[in-house]
Amino acid sequence: MLEVRQLNVWYGAAQALFDVSLSVGAGELVVLQGLNGAGKSTLLQASMGLSQRQTGAISYQNETISAWPPYRRALAGLGYVAEDRRLFGALTVRENLHIAARGDVPANEARVLDLFPALKVMLQRRASQMSGGEQQMLAIARTLMTEPKLLLLDEPCEGIAPLLVVSIRDALLALRAAGMAMLVAEQNRILADQADRVVTLVSGRVAA
Ligand code: ATP
Repeated sequence: MLEVRQLNVWYGAAQALFDVSLSVGAGELVVLQGLNGAGKSTLLQASMGLSQRQTGAISYQNETISAWPPYRRALAGLGYVAEDRRLFGALTVRENLHIAARGDVPANEARVLDLFPALKVMLQRRASQMSGGEQQMLAIARTLMTEPKLLLLDEPCEGIAPLLVVSIRDALLALRAAGMAMLVAEQNRILADQADRVVTLVSGRVAA
């Protein structure tokens, strides 16, 4: 579904990724591991079209998308949840869900609330008044409202209370069981044991 071939990415003069190749097949869960600064976020951002300077090729569903802007990738079915979540703090949970929603919005809302029941009881709450774990659920749920075919998740369980980590992990595994493809960056091995493949980055290179 997603093919990254010999990707190099730079921030100014500093190169962050070196000839990185990986693929995510339909329905696959691929986990991207590595220490802080290894390049996990950079790879997800480049896949979404958010990096400034890069070489190499990225294809999605057999089309080369390297030159596509982020919105076009989103329309084609790439869903990205950034590490900092990018929620609208002054808006309610429901408003955050609806802001980028596509398709049959009531049906999609019902589906994401079934996946994250904790959100059901706080639909009128402002995102800024939620815990980190609740915000993470909302960020994933909001992306699901765009009807993605492949999810790019940056550290979905990082720094979150253990009980909510279990909810988020179970929700992601349920999505995967329903056929969603996922590329997940994580350091904490919450999903790695369940992955079809684990790709390890060391200093911007694929090590294993
Ligand atoms: P973390 O888990 O800490 O986010 P990571 O594996 O996601 O780590 P990246 O954030 O992709 O790693 O960083 C890869 C390299 O690129 C690091 O050397 C980092 O310092 C550098 N880098 C990341 N973002 C920027 C930026 N906006 N400007 C300059 N350099 C950056």
